[in-house]
Amino acid sequence: MGELSFRESVNRMVDRAITTMDLEPGLASAIKGCNSVLQVRFPVLIRDKIEVFTGWRAVHSTHRLPAKGGIRFAPTVAQDEVEALAALMTYKCAIMDIPFGGSKGALLIDPRKYTRDEMQPITRRFTLELARKQFLSPATNVPAPDMGTGQREMAWMADTYKNLCPEDINYLASVTGKPVQHGGIHGRVEATGRGVQYGLREFFRHTGAVTAAGLSGDLDGKRVIIQGLGNVGYHASKFLTEEDGVKVIAVIEHDGVIANPKGLLIEELYRYKVANKGVKGYPDGTFHNDSAAALEMECDVLIPAAMEGQITADNAPRIQAKIIAEAANGPVTYAADKLLRDRGVVIIPDAFLNAGGVVVSYFEWVQNISHIRFGRLQRRLDEGRGNYYTTALEELTGKAVPEKLRSWIGHGADELDLVRSGLDDTMRLAFQEMLARREENPKIKDLRTAAFSVAIEKIAQSYIDVSPY
Ligand code: NAD
Repeated sequence: MGELSFRESVNRMVDRAITTMDLEPGLASAIKGCNSVLQVRFPVLIRDKIEVFTGWRAVHSTHRLPAKGGIRFAPTVAQDEVEALAALMTYKCAIMDIPFGGSKGALLIDPRKYTRDEMQPITRRFTLELARKQFLSPATNVPAPDMGTGQREMAWMADTYKNLCPEDINYLASVTGKPVQHGGIHGRVEATGRGVQYGLREFFRHTGAVTAAGLSGDLDGKRVIIQGLGNVGYHASKFLTEEDGVKVIAVIEHDGVIANPKGLLIEELYRYKVANKGVKGYPDGTFHNDSAAALEMECDVLIPAAMEGQITADNAPRIQAKIIAEAANGPVTYAADKLLRDRGVVIIPDAFLNAGGVVVSYFEWVQNISHIRFGRLQRRLDEGRGNYYTTALEELTGKAVPEKLRSWIGHGADELDLVRSGLDDTMRLAFQEMLARREENPKIKDLRTAAFSVAIEKIAQSYIDVSPY
């Protein structure tokens, strides 16, 4: 089977879910189509020369507002990809029960070719183009970081919006993923990787799902291969190795693969990668150039965390992983998805597994529009109440409460505690909903179809509730 474009690939996966549902065809096509796409071209003076940049912002759905989705800066990006990513955002928000529509943006640029001082006016000008054309505001369309963008770009964007609309009291909520000192939220940078960890933990809590993947037990000792040690891959692999006993036996990066059957030290490898702009030469592992072959190595869980279209009809028959945990967006093509399912490989879908970023973005947006830090009102109250409990317990029993327990009970939840707890809860509930859908509908055999079915049902309901026709 030939490979489809990314957008077609997502559409086919959604179609597969629709065939398992009783949905009016008109409604299905209303849900699937992208509502609007803005393309902008703008000039910026760089090194005494005018350069013209092209960017997009696609709004896939507005059944909930604001529409939400990252902005990527990449040297190879096209409208088709932006539309596919915007669609994924719609489904992702619905699966995770986040009251947002779906959107995505991109700027065609290689950020590595520009200095910080050059990137700032480019980003600010792109923001102006989006805001002036109603494709950026706290109420209607809220960007976040994606590939090639981070806190720095989000701070510039929010500041540009503030200067353009100083009368908008919610200006901070125009963008999420900002630095904490500029209205961001603790835990946002690592949120997607943390969500991958929580999502995998929840998967391994369900013995039936684990057995169906040909595995047993929990995450402890599982052999994992990660593709891409960027924001998502680094955080996911760091948390999984340091907190869940996972063994990362290979890391695939743009310049090659580092393998170590005993398990790699992620923090050390990441620092090496950042300092050396690649993994080649890292001393505590074996390096080879063939990144593609490394995806096919034997392991329990393969975590593609780099980019879309990495597992195709070509390499899918040779993938030996028992589980593919989609940390990247769209890493498995439609054709590959079918081949893998036929072989019994379990795919934990991107629309669920990498949703941690948008979940915590939602928390950041809520915090920004409520103008108060989470935990500020109740933290000391909880702390005091906890201390009273331990004192009462000690007085009643005549025994000392162990120190670890005392400090846990006497701890008032701060912003980071609440963010982690909210993310964990959201990942668990979404997975359980997906699993229940697969179990209750005999036409659904895989988690991706279950996820899309859950999403489409929720979106369809909101269209029906406020039917404009
Ligand atoms: P990033 O730019 O921080 O990291 C990507 C990493 O992949 C880099 O280290 C890069 O060197 C590496 N890489 C690039 N091409 C590669 C290749 N062909 N083989 C191996 N490694 C390669 O990006 P990110 O933010 O971590 O995003 C990664 C993926 O996760 C993307 O698909 C993105 O859409 C998705 N995602 C990101 C977030 C987020 O919050 N950052 C949220 C949801 C989904």
